[in-house]
Amino acid sequence: MKKTLIALAVVALGGAAVAQQAAPAPVRVTLTRLDCGRSAQPRDLAAFSDTYAMDGFKKALVASCYLIRHGDEYLLWDTGYAVTARDNPQAGLLMPQTVVEQLRRLNVDPARVGRVGISHYHGDHTGQARDFARATLLIGAGDWAALTATERAPGVDPSPLAAWVSGGGKVEPVRGDKDVWGDGSVVILDTPGHTPGHHSLLVRLKGKGNVLLTGDLSHFAENYAVDGVPRFNTNRADTLASLHRFKRMAAALKATVVIQHEPADITKLPAFPQAAE
Ligand SMILES: [Zn+2]
Repeated sequence: MKKTLIALAVVALGGAAVAQQAAPAPVRVTLTRLDCGRSAQPRDLAAFSDTYAMDGFKKALVASCYLIRHGDEYLLWDTGYAVTARDNPQAGLLMPQTVVEQLRRLNVDPARVGRVGISHYHGDHTGQARDFARATLLIGAGDWAALTATERAPGVDPSPLAAWVSGGGKVEPVRGDKDVWGDGSVVILDTPGHTPGHHSLLVRLKGKGNVLLTGDLSHFAENYAVDGVPRFNTNRADTLASLHRFKRMAAALKATVVIQHEPADITKLPAFPQAAE
């Protein structure tokens, strides 16, 4: 009996040692904000409310993209306005550096970006995706269906994503949430309503804590505060359900919420080229 117990104890200890060995070393995760364009002048934002709540309200919005490093791999979240937009004076856009130029400043070869995550199909999020045509495209299945439909809805422009839509690039349409690396550190969140397959992003950092990037679930702080729904969203009820889920998640995770188009939220993350981690 004694022998059996000792044998069991040895087995148990051996098992614990194996389990310890098998646990992977924690992977370093970092998050860097990239400047992907901003309005030169305040613009009228009345259309961002379907209840007339933003009539007369003006603000100069920004476009933000994000580089997430996970170990030796990279995810680019959103790709901002097209580079051609900054050379068009009518667009009223300031974009001192392209995404590729900013990556070079970070000493990141753009060819090392293995995944491009797109919150939704609008042109201020897909604009520079073509510079990463060899990456795997992660986009909501609802948006992918809209982009590849034979009769596309107005405002659905597949051309910035041509490398994937018609060029044979690798694509993973995302249904529901997607845990990008399978360890819970970076999760693409199902938040439909702005578009059919709209997604937000959760990044869980060791030091900074949890960060939630909205995509265009909301565009600016004043609208986020009142659950404002833009007139041009594809589904009002889905938008409200997504806002409800997102805000509950932000509270439960004590997350830093970053509204990607909100100029005041730029300072919630370290200034480029610094990264949050
Ligand atoms: Zn946008």
